[in-house]
Amino acid sequence: MAQKRKKDITVDWHAHVMLEKAMEFTQDHIVVFNFKKKPRKAPISTGAHGGMVWGPELDKRIKALDKAGIDVQVLSSSNVHQCCDWAPARDALRVHKLLNDTFAEMIQAHPDRFAGLATVPLQNVPMAIKELDRAILEKGLHGVNMSSNINGVDLDHEKFHPFWKRAEELGVPIYIHPAGATDPRLARYYLWNSMGQPYEEGMAMTSLILGGVMDKFPDLNFVMAHGGGTLPHYDGRLERNYRRGRGFAKSITAPPSEYFKRFYYDTCVYNPEVLTNLAKKVGAGRLIMGSDYPIGELDPIGFVRKNRSLTTAAKKKIVGGTAARLLKLSG
Ligand SMILES: [Zn+2]
Repeated sequence: MAQKRKKDITVDWHAHVMLEKAMEFTQDHIVVFNFKKKPRKAPISTGAHGGMVWGPELDKRIKALDKAGIDVQVLSSSNVHQCCDWAPARDALRVHKLLNDTFAEMIQAHPDRFAGLATVPLQNVPMAIKELDRAILEKGLHGVNMSSNINGVDLDHEKFHPFWKRAEELGVPIYIHPAGATDPRLARYYLWNSMGQPYEEGMAMTSLILGGVMDKFPDLNFVMAHGGGTLPHYDGRLERNYRRGRGFAKSITAPPSEYFKRFYYDTCVYNPEVLTNLAKKVGAGRLIMGSDYPIGELDPIGFVRKNRSLTTAAKKKIVGGTAARLLKLSG
């Protein structure tokens, strides 16, 4: 039974959970560590801001939420650390279930403080649909979290259509958060993160737009991590190629940047001007507060509220209203 929630709720959409057991399974496949010649044992505790945790510790999480003024944290796996798309599907499923069951337990313990995005083994679509159903219908999670490609296969591949169809039927949002970029040139200077992740977000968006997924599943809500990366701010080339008919599928029904207004974007962009421009481009109603807990924006509410270009009504929606609607938290 959904708990009644207060009216002006604040929601942090972008918050990760890591589990020791999941990391034991994935540690030799984590992009950031595998740029080094020898994979090392992945540490679960590094990088978190003071008082915040990667793990599922409820008290510490709630304390950090209270400090930041956040009512609800939306739990998701860290795809960078716990992506299992490379693994045999049955083995991956065990890790996905462990994560989903942990999220469900955390939500059950504090239904007014946590919501959760399921993780599923998309290398086997029927199995992914089954786990989606279990996570949403039996375990009470609220949406899905996945990488920007599935082990090198872009998201517009036909084999994923049954999954999109089921997610659309269930009315659950899809959060796309890259698992990391693997080009060895990105090994230096932490570029896999600063350059690679925004590129991956653009790749996911363009494949969903140009591959016809946005048209075929119009009621499916996609939420892009990190404000959708660079693509929304540099769409001129894409538009030019559309006008000149270069490389465009016949199925596309509008200029590509029109489709940008059909995605949602988290506010994890670290620069107020980027947030302002994103709001101008896609509309403030498409923005959703996300901090990238426990390593990202320390004051995600302040980051939105201090922005002078946004109206008070828009800010209210960005810091929680829109997320609550997508996750069906207030119903
Ligand atoms: Zn993140």
